[in-house]
Parts: sequence; C-alpha cells; structure tokens
Amino acid sequence: MNVQIENAMPGGFVYERTHNVIHGAVNGTAFLIVPVMAQNQFRIQLHADIEKSKGKENFLSYLHTLEQRHPFVQYAGYNGRNTVSINVESREQEDKENLTILVSELSSKCMESGIQNCCSRCKNVLPLRAAFVDGNPVLLCENCFKQEMNEAAGQGMRRENMLLGLIGAFLGALIGTVLWVVIGMVGFIAGIAGYAIVFCAMKGYEMLGRKLSRKGIVICILLSCLMIVGAEYVSLGIAIYKELGDMYFLSVGDSFSLVPAFLEESEVAAGVMKDLIFGYALAVWASFSSVKARWKQVEQEQKSHTAAPL
Ligand SMILES: [Zn+2]
Repeated sequence: MNVQIENAMPGGFVYERTHNVIHGAVNGTAFLIVPVMAQNQFRIQLHADIEKSKGKENFLSYLHTLEQRHPFVQYAGYNGRNTVSINVESREQEDKENLTILVSELSSKCMESGIQNCCSRCKNVLPLRAAFVDGNPVLLCENCFKQEMNEAAGQGMRRENMLLGLIGAFLGALIGTVLWVVIGMVGFIAGIAGYAIVFCAMKGYEMLGRKLSRKGIVICILLSCLMIVGAEYVSLGIAIYKELGDMYFLSVGDSFSLVPAFLEESEVAAGVMKDLIFGYALAVWASFSSVKARWKQVEQEQKSHTAAPL
C-alpha cells in the first residue's frame, strides 16, 4: 500500500499514527478504519446495536450487496453480535472517495434501520469514545473505558509478594492439614484431603501474595508435600493419645513425643507408609487438573493487557 493515509481518509476523520487507526463519524455514526498495509487494505469497523434493532434484516441484506455493488469491497460481514467489518482494497488515488462513499452509505443505512453505535464491550448505546485495547481499536462507553484503563494499569501494579505469599500458602495448607487430621480421626483414608492442602495453599498464596506465579505454584506443591507428612505425624500422635492416653496417663504432648518411637515398630511404620502413599497418590490424582489449569492461567495472565484512549 503506497498511500499517504492522511490523503486517503474521509473528510473530518482523524488518523492516530501511534496506533494506526483512523476514526471519525458521519451524521452521528462513528467508524473506525484500520489501514492494513500488508494486505493493501483498509478495514472499516462499525460497532452498533444491530441485534436489538428492528431494521436488522434490512441492514444485513444491504451489507450483502456491498461486494457486488462496489468492486473495491473485498469482504463485508457481521460477527453476529455488534461488529460489522468491511475490507476495502486500496486503490491509492481512489481511496478517499471509496472510503467516503462507504461510510456515508453505511451511516444512512444505519439511520434508516434505526441502528446506533454501541459499546464494543457492554453493547449499550451510550456516548462512546474510541480506544485501543489489546492491539485492537474499539468503541467504549465511559464506564467500560474506565474499567479497561484500570485493569490495564492495575495489572502492572499487582506485583507478587513472595514472602506474604509463602505465609498465605502455609496458613492455607494448615487449614487443609486440619481436614486431613479430622478425616483421619474418623478412620477414612485422608488422601483426598491432600487435594484440599494443595488447593488451600494456592488460594492462601494468592490471597496474601496478591498474585500466584508459576514459582508460587511450585512453592505451594513443595509445601503441601511437607504438610502432608506433618499431617500424618499429627494424626498418629492423636491416635496414640486416644488409644493409650487414659491407660498410661499420657498428655497430648507425651503422645506426640512418642510418635518417633512408635514409628520404629515395623507394623506402625508400614501403616504410615501406606497412608502416605495413598495420600500422595490421591493428592496428585485430585490436584493434577486444577494445578494444570492454574499453570496455564498464569501464562495467560502474563500476556499483558493494554488500553489507551484514541
Ligand atoms: Zn460499555
């Protein structure tokens, strides 16, 4: 495309060089025009409340005639929600005239069909402003514009605090551990609580650390492995207290200090090993998909979200 954008755009439209977008309005209908140099095209974008309009069919059948009526229109389509896109081949000297014809036709058709511009995000018909979000030009109402700006700004500021995250993970895992001990006391295999330990650790890390990174996930898993051993130890101490406490006048503290001695008994050690193997296996089985999902989500979040006014 070998054309001076300023010479190609309809009268009254503005070209934002930084974001490579032309925007403007014809008789109250706003348009965004993106020059796509690589394809030698202009893409006209119209965000409008077509779904809510009685003139929807009328407007869409008009849209279908565009490619036949204007040889420079390479594509005219509607996404079924609120966006009409029209790809226009660049013919250099003719561009200004061709684009002007299209935006005025579209604007008249909108008026005739009772179609108004709407917010790209919430689809409400409100006063709109052009903005640039995640690399795409959009029209936003004041409310959505503020939200996009806040989200983009907030993301940069939300830094992970690893120390607080670690404390959060520990507290979270502790809650899961209590569950393990309680389930163990009832006599069930506590393994499913291993999942609760991992889950609560991640939740706790995110709450106090403000952000869960991949490093955070690894920390939570390692911590959970340790906590599962701890939980098993506590379970055993409680079992000793319950079985022998009355008989030998043992305090809770005494019972806990007897755990290592009991572990030397091969029968007890085997039982504990069985509990732990089941516990870890069940914890891995139950947590696998949710950890994997979080892992992927972190990757998504790392792709930065941007928003700028036009
Ligand atoms: Zn909105």
